[in-house]
This record gives sequence, structure tokens and C-alpha cells, in this order.
Amino acid sequence: MPAVSLKCRICGTTHDLEGIGTCRSCFGPLDPVYDRADQARVTRESITAGPNSLWRYADFLPVEPLPNQALAPGLTPLVSAPRLAEELGIGELWLKLDTANPTHSFKDRGVAVAAAKARELGLTTLACSSTGNLANAVAARAAADGFEAAVFTPAGLEREKLIATSVYGATLYAVQGSYDDVSRLTVELSFELPWGFVNAALRSYYAEGSKTVGFEIAEQLGFQLPDAVFAPIGSGALYAKIFEGFREWKELGLVDGALPRMYGGQAEGCRPVVTAWENGEKVTPVRPATQALSIAIGNPADGDYAIESARASGGGFFSVPEADIADNIVELAHATGVWGETAPAVTFGALKEAVARGAVGPNDRVVLVVSGDGLKTPGLVSHLVEAITIPPDADVVLDLVGAAV
Ligand SMILES: *Cc1c(COP(=O)(O)O)cnc(C)c1O
Ligand SMILES: [Zn+2]
Repeated sequence: MPAVSLKCRICGTTHDLEGIGTCRSCFGPLDPVYDRADQARVTRESITAGPNSLWRYADFLPVEPLPNQALAPGLTPLVSAPRLAEELGIGELWLKLDTANPTHSFKDRGVAVAAAKARELGLTTLACSSTGNLANAVAARAAADGFEAAVFTPAGLEREKLIATSVYGATLYAVQGSYDDVSRLTVELSFELPWGFVNAALRSYYAEGSKTVGFEIAEQLGFQLPDAVFAPIGSGALYAKIFEGFREWKELGLVDGALPRMYGGQAEGCRPVVTAWENGEKVTPVRPATQALSIAIGNPADGDYAIESARASGGGFFSVPEADIADNIVELAHATGVWGETAPAVTFGALKEAVARGAVGPNDRVVLVVSGDGLKTPGLVSHLVEAITIPPDADVVLDLVGAAV
């Protein structure tokens, strides 16, 4: 395995590949470090000959895959959206449908990686704090691999996301507080309980799974890098890790083209990263007040890292009015046939803003990450249901549609 250690993003201290969420010296976040010489034996051919899941990228992940793989996520479709590209006036638009993962969001990726580490460490319970989708992913992964599952979410979550957790048999704790309260609670609990908290003690492994979104985009474009990528910002991990994936492959010569400009979207009611970006400052926490619950994180763990990635890539961040979120869900569905949840609706809003400001245009090949499924947030569009009730009588229908009988 090419992964050799964990390295602190702040002070640079190196740690073994343990289940510690933060640096022992300074509590900074830890990223896996790889032996590039070992990775250099990987070729485009060896990648495409690998399993039909994210485990084809095992040489770029900090764990050994579980020997008996169940419900492996990844290798989700990258589909062209020519009608929307034309409407927006951009060269090419591709949608990365991470809705096609086992629990319909990209969260299945990181959880698969964290679960492999949990198994290696001999842990028998998987746990997390979640804005919804991570809870679903942890619950399903636990069922697939034979772990117990304990998930902690804000009490005010969409009912669909609670159902999609409980159905797998997980123990669900609805915490009276915001996601940031839930996150603090689980970090505290992770010091006391022998559970594998995927986004606390196992965070370095969990977050790394999101690199595979970047690998797949590149591979599916024929090992070419796109010009711009749009992703949602919750903790900032997905966005920053997609870019890390591109950078790693560029360094190894596995991809052609310049590194893409990375653009991130946040909802107006929770825009700590956008504010920090606009003011040229470090991220300061806010109290979220947004309908986009899956990205309602007021104190984003990887917010500053996301800003660094935006700067390095020549991209940026845009916020999207709360009033536009439901409309964006509908507009994306009408123009592409893809029903995303609130987070991709925000990401789509960021894309429209970037077009309006001339940041992307006719010469760009653009990828929009559809990070989660609209079926989990139907409340925002349920008012649109408008069925025409009829008897089972063809004459009535012909009359209704105005056909001459
Ligand atoms: C969790 C989540 C996000 C945010 O991802 P981060 O890595 O926390 O930035 C975006 N979209 C969906 C659908 C999510 O579930
Ligand atoms: Zn440190």
C-alpha cells in the first residue's frame, strides 16, 4: 500500500496511520501521505483494469480494501447535459451523478474507506455526526459489512433522511441543536467510546474518499482534466479533496491538461467560506439558517483548506439566495432530467452566477457535481404536483388534449 503516514496540515508533524482525528501536537487536521515512487507504477491501463468501483483507486487511498467487498460505491455516471450547456452558453457541461451511489450521495465513498480502517483497527461500531446523507451512508455500510451503527443528527432533519437511516437498523440520535452542536458532541464522545466515528477519529480516512470523485471525472473524460469544476461546500472536504485528487494525478503524469478552476457554492443562509473568500480572511463560524440542510455547517472543518484550493486553482466561491434553491432544483430537472437535492441546487446556482460574471463561458468544459439525490428532499418541490384526475376513458383524454374525435 503506497500510503505511509498521516501529516498535519498545520504544523507538518507526521503520525502513523492511526485512528486519530487530529494532530497530537497542535490539533490540526491530518492528511494521508503517499510514497510517490510506489504510486509511479500505476498506469492508466492498470487503473481501467481495476474493479468497477472506487477501489480501482486503492493505490491513492490510505487503507487496504476489505477482502470481501460488499456494496462498493463509486464509478458513478458522468453524463453530458447539452441542453443546459446551450441554455447557459458554456462549451460543455457534464454532470457527475453521485446520486448513483448505494445511498444516493457521495458520502458512500468516504464511509467505505473509513469502514475499511475501522475493521483494520478491530472496531465493531461505526458512528458519525451527520447533516443527513452521512447518516444514510454509515447505516448502510454497517449493514453491508456487519458493523453496529450509531448516528447523530440535528433533530430538525428532513424525514426522508431519517427514514433512510433507520431502515438499515442503525441507532439514530436526534440531537436538539445545530449540526455544529452535533459535531462537537460526537468529537467529545469519540474520546470516551470505542466506536469508529467516521468524521472524527477516522476523518483523515473518510475525507480522503472524496478524492475519488476527482479521479473518476478525469478518467471518464479520457484522462483529460476539465476546465472548471463546481462543487458544494459543507465542511469543504469534498471540494478540497476533488482538487487534491486532480493534483495527485497531475503530479504523477496520469492526466493531460491544466488543473481545473475549482468553484464552490454555499447557500446565502450559511456562507462562512464565501464571506471569508470575499474578505480575504480566515473562516469564522456562523449560525446556519438555510434550507440546504446537507451543507448547513457553520464551522466548516476544511473551510480554510477549501479557500487555499480555490486560490491555487484560480477558482472561487459564490453564494446562492435561499429563494432560488427550490427553483434551481426544478430548473436543473427540467433542463437535464436529473433531480438533485438542495446541495446540488446550490452548486447549480453557483454555476449560473459564474456564467453571469463571465468566469466560465463558451470555451469551457465544465463539470457540475450532483452530490445528492432530490428524492431525499422532496418537500421543497412537493407543491408542484398537479395531476389531472380523469376516468379511464379515451374519449375524455382526447377531448382534454384537444384532439378531434
Ligand atoms: C455532505 C454533503 C455535502 C457537503 O460535503 P462536505 O464534504 O461536507 O463539504 C454536499 N452535498 C451533499 C449532498 C452532502 O450530503
Ligand atoms: Zn499539528
